[in-house]
Amino acid sequence: MTQNTQLYIDGSWQAGRTTVENRNPSDVTDLIGHYAQADADQLDQALDAAARAQQIWWAAGIQKRHDVLMAIGVELMTRAEEIGRIIAREEGKPLAEGKGEAYRAGQFFTYYAGECLRNQGDLAESVRPGIEIDVRREPVGVVAIISPWNFPVATPAWKIAPALAYGNAVVWKPANITPASAVALTEIIARQDIPAGLFNMVLGSGRDVGQRLVESAKVDAISFTGSVGVGRGIAASAMSNMTKVQMEMGSKNPMIIMDDCDLDLAVAHAAGAAFGGTGQKCTAASRLIVHSAVHDAFVENLVTAANALKVGHALEEGTQLGPVVSDTQLAQNLDYIAKGRAEGAELLCGGDRLERDTDGYFMAPAVFAGTRNDMVINREEMFAPITCVIKADSYAEALSIANDSQFGLTAGIMTRSLSRASHFRANMRAGCVMVNLPTAGTDYHVPFGGRGASSFGPREQGRYAAEFYTTVKTAYVAPGVPE
Ligand code: NDP
Repeated sequence: MTQNTQLYIDGSWQAGRTTVENRNPSDVTDLIGHYAQADADQLDQALDAAARAQQIWWAAGIQKRHDVLMAIGVELMTRAEEIGRIIAREEGKPLAEGKGEAYRAGQFFTYYAGECLRNQGDLAESVRPGIEIDVRREPVGVVAIISPWNFPVATPAWKIAPALAYGNAVVWKPANITPASAVALTEIIARQDIPAGLFNMVLGSGRDVGQRLVESAKVDAISFTGSVGVGRGIAASAMSNMTKVQMEMGSKNPMIIMDDCDLDLAVAHAAGAAFGGTGQKCTAASRLIVHSAVHDAFVENLVTAANALKVGHALEEGTQLGPVVSDTQLAQNLDYIAKGRAEGAELLCGGDRLERDTDGYFMAPAVFAGTRNDMVINREEMFAPITCVIKADSYAEALSIANDSQFGLTAGIMTRSLSRASHFRANMRAGCVMVNLPTAGTDYHVPFGGRGASSFGPREQGRYAAEFYTTVKTAYVAPGVPE
């Protein structure tokens, strides 16, 4: 592959008709490269190739699929440091997080390698004597995958791995601002012994390549992670073609801090979940609902923890918070800071752009206190190192505030009370609930997803992913009477 031949279509690397620049958000003078952009013909070529290859891949059987997925997973894990460095350089998360992401991506592939061997159906007796029934899962066909920049390797991995495991072909459109990570993952997949066209990677903007992809009648299923606004448009396109769709979108994850909790642990978990990944996680804790009895002590310690975080170049030793991903994201973050202040929230720390030795999009982690749940900063996903504290006088009030959101991805409670923890687990409207744990941080072998505007369609990850990546066939067989 040479400069600009970074699209992977029908089993070969191709040049784009145009290119875009990719720069390091920790240091905008660091030009990572120019990246190819697919056009409509190339997208069409990828879709046609995928449809052909899917049949061959399905026929190749489960051992073949297992072996390919296992090889991809092992390579990702073995090369986690190197791939983590690419992620850190172009997305801005600290190297340790980048390495963790690459390793996790590998685990998705090895997990689904195992699932290839467990794609079992059901046998049923018929209500009509002499008839046998079996229920099997078959691939949906060509899956369009559209992924965001915040986990540029792990998110596509948790979509591509099950898609291939269950016998589908893939056309992947990565986020255009993290193309180097996409190329790194593609290089690993492209080296496997798979039919040409089974896996295609088409770089390009969402408005252009993404939109064409989701509007194509050649796509059988769409898996998307990104913003609610784009998700709504994708859902409309999918419906017009009757295409199966699964979407993970925004969030506004609450974390309840009760008066009986371990306060030091609560501060550590809240700070980690609010500011890890520079707050650019769909699982970030962005609404901290704190019992009035511990409110002041919690807030004071949280501000101390936020101020102690080392913000800097993602590849620099000791950095805990990298830059935000882009100038657009930084401008959006600063705008939310201004909105919060205008609404009367009290900014206790951070919220300003920071100067460092390199020219990057650095921002000081921010804590707003004195916020109300109806403020914009508590309603909209900010995707920023900004967290908001809301005071509550009781568990019941805290739970009601936590549930008052259009979103419902993750939610947490810090408490020593088993009855409160149990009540929260049963009554919190969210896809993932955490007791004495941060809202961020999930396992790879169990379902992930949310409720309300956070998710749409079947769950991702674990064996629940089969619901989306397969379609069920019920066969009725009348064997007849032997001659
Ligand atoms: P987007 O939803 O715009 O992007 C997500 C993916 O969708 C990208 O690959 C993007 O392409 C693609 N896309 C964009 N428009 C279309 C379209 N019309 N049709 C098909 N695909 C499209 O999110 P952003 O990256 O712009 O981030 C904006 C905000 O979204 C963030 O501030 C955050 O609030 C939220 N977000 C939430 C995520 C989550 O995990 N919950 C993840 C990422 C973002 P491209 O980027 O190349 O244009």
